[in-house]
Amino acid sequence: VKKIAVFTSGGDAPGMNAALRAVVRTASFYNIECYGIREGYNGMINNDFIKMGARSVKNIITEGGTILKSARSLEFKTKEGRQKAYDNLVARGIDALVCIGGDGTFTGAKVFSEEFGIRVIGVPGTIDNDIFGTDNTIGYDTALNTAMDAIDKIRDTATSHNRVFFVEVMGRDAGFIALNSGLATGALDILIPERKDSIEELFETFEKAEKAGKSSSIVVVAEGEKLGSIYDIAKATKNGFPDYDIRVVVLGHIQRGGSPSCADRVLASRLGYGAVIGLMNGQNQVMAGMQSNRLVYTPIEEAIKKHNEIDQDLLKISEILAI
Ligand code: ATP
Repeated sequence: VKKIAVFTSGGDAPGMNAALRAVVRTASFYNIECYGIREGYNGMINNDFIKMGARSVKNIITEGGTILKSARSLEFKTKEGRQKAYDNLVARGIDALVCIGGDGTFTGAKVFSEEFGIRVIGVPGTIDNDIFGTDNTIGYDTALNTAMDAIDKIRDTATSHNRVFFVEVMGRDAGFIALNSGLATGALDILIPERKDSIEELFETFEKAEKAGKSSSIVVVAEGEKLGSIYDIAKATKNGFPDYDIRVVVLGHIQRGGSPSCADRVLASRLGYGAVIGLMNGQNQVMAGMQSNRLVYTPIEEAIKKHNEIDQDLLKISEILAI
């Protein structure tokens, strides 16, 4: 490869900047010309490219968000949009793309690569940790720690007033943040989309907690919980336990922000480096990931289609420890 372009797309995640820095500096080290594309696929279509060198990514390893900005692009889902994007890449002589984002971003990259023959490699950047082929995605560890810190603070007020708090954390289809932040904060119960939860079981848990002499509790609920919205669950609980003083907290976008954790910076550096090395070694339509502390390349198709399983042991441990 002689000229590459890198972009961030889909939901932003802390550590995307660290990944970008790693891509740009590895490319620079190996004398590969590098462009950054602003606002994901939109920038590719609207010709919003910037030439990047080692100094253009100074001081960004500590920064949350993405200096290139991210976007969701409807136009890229059309053939005409992708044709415009391809023409812009050809005009600059770009022969490969590093795509930092989630499964939607990778789906777009795969479609694009199959259509026009442009080489692509993915770097998993999403707080949800829902991508197959890597133990962790970039941003997940930071989001987990943000959720944990917030829930710790909620616990302080919960215990002072004997309250029951339902706390919603992000994860549209995946309960990784809920499960791990719940375990780390000693939640009474954790509701995640991967498990079939029932309101009866939740009530049993409350009854057991009462018998055990617990005076306040926290239930962590994943955004994508199938039992219903967090407000529905809280309402049903109020009906079942009219004496409870119940509060709902939706953590929301604070989970996406903030300076990336050490683990995310290291992961992002390794994967950004791994993406450029992969392209140099002829990889195409794969995603760079870390598995058991080793750099691995997984076909994008698999990364999109397969799912990381949640660890059933964690659920069991959280139940045992919440007695
Ligand atoms: P996150 O998981 O954090 O939300 P993501 O990468 O999955 O991140 P999406 O919004 O799903 O975020 O996808 C990012 C962009 O990828 C879309 O806005 C769209 O431009 C492009 N994309 C997604 N699916 C396709 C597709 N089937 N064909 C072409 N482009 C697509």
